[in-house]
Amino acid sequence: MKILVINAGSSSMKYQLIDMTDESVIAKGNCERIGAGGHFKHSTGDGRVYETDVVMNNHTEAFVQIKNALLSEEYGVIKNLDEVSAVGHRIVQGGALFSKSVIVTEEVIKGIESLIPLAPLHNAAHVQGIRACLEVFGKDVPEVVVFDTAFHSTMPPKAFIYPVPYEYYEKYAVRRYGFHGTSHRYVSHRCAELMGKDLKDIKMITCHLGNGSSITAIKDGKVIDTSMGLTPLDGIMMGTRTGSLDPSVVTFIAEKEHISPSDMDTLLNKKSGFLGISGVSSDDRDVCAAADAGNERAKLAIEILEYDILKYIGSYTAVLGGVDAIVFTAGIGENQSSHRENVCHALEFMGVKIDDELNRQAVRGAEGKISTPDSKVEVFVIPTNEELVIARDTMALVENNK
Ligand code: AMP
Repeated sequence: MKILVINAGSSSMKYQLIDMTDESVIAKGNCERIGAGGHFKHSTGDGRVYETDVVMNNHTEAFVQIKNALLSEEYGVIKNLDEVSAVGHRIVQGGALFSKSVIVTEEVIKGIESLIPLAPLHNAAHVQGIRACLEVFGKDVPEVVVFDTAFHSTMPPKAFIYPVPYEYYEKYAVRRYGFHGTSHRYVSHRCAELMGKDLKDIKMITCHLGNGSSITAIKDGKVIDTSMGLTPLDGIMMGTRTGSLDPSVVTFIAEKEHISPSDMDTLLNKKSGFLGISGVSSDDRDVCAAADAGNERAKLAIEILEYDILKYIGSYTAVLGGVDAIVFTAGIGENQSSHRENVCHALEFMGVKIDDELNRQAVRGAEGKISTPDSKVEVFVIPTNEELVIARDTMALVENNK
């Protein structure tokens, strides 16, 4: 069975075609600048690459590019479209409506649309992606949606209710939802496998550290808290996002600088975090290079990032009543061993001990344990694979539905 995984953004559409017999990626690519010119890149598992500027006015035209590339004589990987058994879509916001993956129906699309106010850019783009898929692939190819929020739907109210007047939760569903759920789900299950235990028996903290970052506390196999909130702006400091703030900082700066709500949204989401503090870049590699060259603000940005990670791990250890395993994943978590080293050394007081050499080696897709045999807490680096989770959910639902 071959499953096409789609991650549709407002002006981009990433895809992977996965062969579920061995879970290998047989083709992947990205449609960029949809609606504003267009750039298309496609590569195959056996190393063929096709890249071109091509006008894509909307998501349907992007889907046509994907279809043509998959079927192309030179760069294709399938002979007929019916070799694609199903399509799985990543959806950012499932709200309180979706606590697990589902097969797409008109009612499901309406549900995702009803959540657009909670994730205006993302959910609107996802709906466009689903409808474009239907147009180009036809009704016979089942579609499945997998939600970033779903894994976090087990949080108790004390973790997801914000202390603002309760009516805003009732009227507008303002609450903590959490994101990166598909990633936290993948690495937590993989960690349990590596430990040879049932996830239900492990108190775990998973740290997804990338351009966007979130940290999740898992107990009895369920998420009990996570650092992102109503939107992906909450939690630890990120590439361009603030993470948690005293809300008065926002009103104070808005008044002083006469900043509108939408410009403030841009400032908090696009101009802050690593970029805002360092003034160098949103990219951790650039900031680390600048810090090594003596840039004081870059050094400060790194200190803040590591301090934030440490604070979340500390507080989640308290809410979990101890911790058995800590997992690092995503671009920074998988590659930047210096942050893992500094954070883990600061956790020595609670019995965390890492092997510095193993830690330094755990980069570029390496998976494994970096803690020493006598560490009280096992520490892992596990490359995330959200696409694979989407493909697995899609296959399971489609097979169950036969
Ligand atoms: P992500 O959002 O998961 O793609 O992560 C992006 C972040 O990971 C950026 O801040 C990068 O600097 C950081 N990173 C560090 N090393 C690497 C690497 N080898 N490959 C990709 N991202 C990296």
